Amino acid sequence: MVRRSSVFERPEVAKLFEHWTAEAIQGVLDDILGFWGCLDLTTAIHWRWNPRLKTTLGRAIFEDMVVELNPLLLARYPGQVRHVLIHEVAHLVVQRLHGTQSPHGSIWKAYMSKAGESPAATHNLDVSDLRRKRTKKRILHRSRWGLPKIF
Ligand SMILES: [Zn+2]
Repeated sequence: MVRRSSVFERPEVAKLFEHWTAEAIQGVLDDILGFWGCLDLTTAIHWRWNPRLKTTLGRAIFEDMVVELNPLLLARYPGQVRHVLIHEVAHLVVQRLHGTQSPHGSIWKAYMSKAGESPAATHNLDVSDLRRKRTKKRILHRSRWGLPKIF
């Protein structure tokens, strides 16, 4: 069950979901797994939107064989969806077929290259406004006798 989130109600996210339907995303996954010769992994690998992701476009969770995608950031950069999917699913495939490896090491890079995708591990998108806000540690408190104090 998907937890309701205000992220999913944003118009730009709704637009992203219109284009990147579950079928479209599954289609990319099936295509790339077939291309890599491991279509048998298609039932083992899952994906989901995770509205709690902040500045990462996506992530791979090995224990659950899940790819998570950042809806808010990808709504802003919808052209990245395919790349992020392939980037993350490559992590799962490498782990499953080659065991624990350096995350963006030579085997992972070989899968990315074979898929015709850049093996860059980080993005240069502007995410400054998406960073988690620091919780204010200091509380402005008005004392009973007069001026505000900061604790
Ligand atoms: Zn990665």
